[in-house]
Amino acid sequence: MTRPNASILVEYLCRITGFYAEIDVKTASVLIIGAGVTGSSIAYHLAKQGCSDVIVLEKNYIGSGSTEKCAGGIRQQFSLEADIRLSMESVEFFSCFEDETGHQADFRQNGYLMLATTGDDMITLRQNVELQRNLGLEVGLLSPSEVLEMVPQLRPDGILGGSFCKSDGYADPYSVVNGFASAARERGVKIIEDTEVVGIDVKKDGMKEVMTTAGKYSSPVIVNTAGPYAGPVGKMIGLDIPVRPSKRHIFITETIHHTEFFESHIWNKFPMIVDFHSGLWLRREGPCLIFGRRNPEEHEGFDTSIDWEYFTNVLGPEICYRFPVFENIGIMRAQAGLHSDTPDNIAILGKAPGIDGVYLACGFSGHGFMHSPAVGRIMAELILNGKTSFQDIDLFNLERFEKPVRITERSFI
Ligand SMILES: Cc1cc2nc3c(=O)[nH]c(=O)nc-3n(C[C@H](O)[C@H](O)[C@H](O)COP(=O)(O)OP(=O)(O)OC[C@H]3O[C@@H](n4cnc5c(N)ncnc54)[C@H](O)[C@@H]3O)c2cc1C
Repeated sequence: MTRPNASILVEYLCRITGFYAEIDVKTASVLIIGAGVTGSSIAYHLAKQGCSDVIVLEKNYIGSGSTEKCAGGIRQQFSLEADIRLSMESVEFFSCFEDETGHQADFRQNGYLMLATTGDDMITLRQNVELQRNLGLEVGLLSPSEVLEMVPQLRPDGILGGSFCKSDGYADPYSVVNGFASAARERGVKIIEDTEVVGIDVKKDGMKEVMTTAGKYSSPVIVNTAGPYAGPVGKMIGLDIPVRPSKRHIFITETIHHTEFFESHIWNKFPMIVDFHSGLWLRREGPCLIFGRRNPEEHEGFDTSIDWEYFTNVLGPEICYRFPVFENIGIMRAQAGLHSDTPDNIAILGKAPGIDGVYLACGFSGHGFMHSPAVGRIMAELILNGKTSFQDIDLFNLERFEKPVRITERSFI
């Protein structure tokens, strides 16, 4: 039998006593779990507000969650004042994204056209427009003929009117998330990919020990920005976070050669069009069109396989009905990602109840991309100062779910 030499023995003792584990622990003032657009924006805003000692842990790569699957839509046409305010602040940020971060967002303000096809929807759009105008948004109601003048490719049947906001639009999700992440890194933030958080231990002194697939991390402050996985991450610290993951598709057409689109006055400023009732939406993406629609029968879950049956039976016929020109347009590919829906379609933002130093920014219910600039600023203020200038913050706390649902965001797509 060979005798172990002294150094091997010391190493063995270190391992079994956990000494190595202790000295290997990496620490930061703030630890963010998830490098989607939310985590990246918070990291950027923390650094901008003076705290660069931030680590972001990402189980895959930057933007690999819902963010890379999203349609990039940015609208201010909501029913809830707080959501309108988040959007208006974010639109301002998106319009000077490059000046702010040094990176491009490819933000195109082609407007959002919301269509009403039922009397109830027309009433809701009217109420929304009144509220949005009171908050200073330039938005207008359109008659059916004004809608058709704007988008002649629409089948007129059943269209009762619409609302249009020209400063709405869309940006490129890949550019935005990487813009935030790069700007954060340039200010000293560390973003560590391929590192999944698998457990969190809250110590008596308030430190959070975070176990990952690539070692231990420790911080007095952790932020849950895990998107559709905010629930499982919350469970690691005993929090019940009602975020429901549900699948959404995007279908991408072949390059558009059809004269109906190509030669129309609107092609260069083609807006995002949303049928308020069904949730059917369509917009231009370079030389193609992209579209989707929620499936009310979709079950909660993490599955992101393409549901071609849903396309064949529901979405395909519906897009051909509303835009007859689609009869002659091929579909090039499809992708599916996850929404993180809450019972009231309102995000969860702020301090977690009962545990100091735990913050939540999740449950965006399909609005996380568009609200990421404002959410980043607000969360950074809360983490660094314990308060924020955003007047509506209490509406977003997790505790609201202990009471019956009071208000909901009705402009949910
Ligand atoms: C088809 C579709 C269309 C959409 N369209 C729009 C739109 O037009 N406009 C809009 O505003 N929003 C839209 N959304 C919603 C939008 O994509 C999300 O609200 C937004 O991307 C949320 O960003 P996030 O950073 O919070 O989450 P994510 O982008 O999901 O980021 C969370 C990150 O956390 C990581 N993570 C999870 N668990 C762990 C763990 N245990 N350890 C480490 N890392 C972990 C994930 O890998 C992921 O990268 C759409 C969504 C879909 C699916």
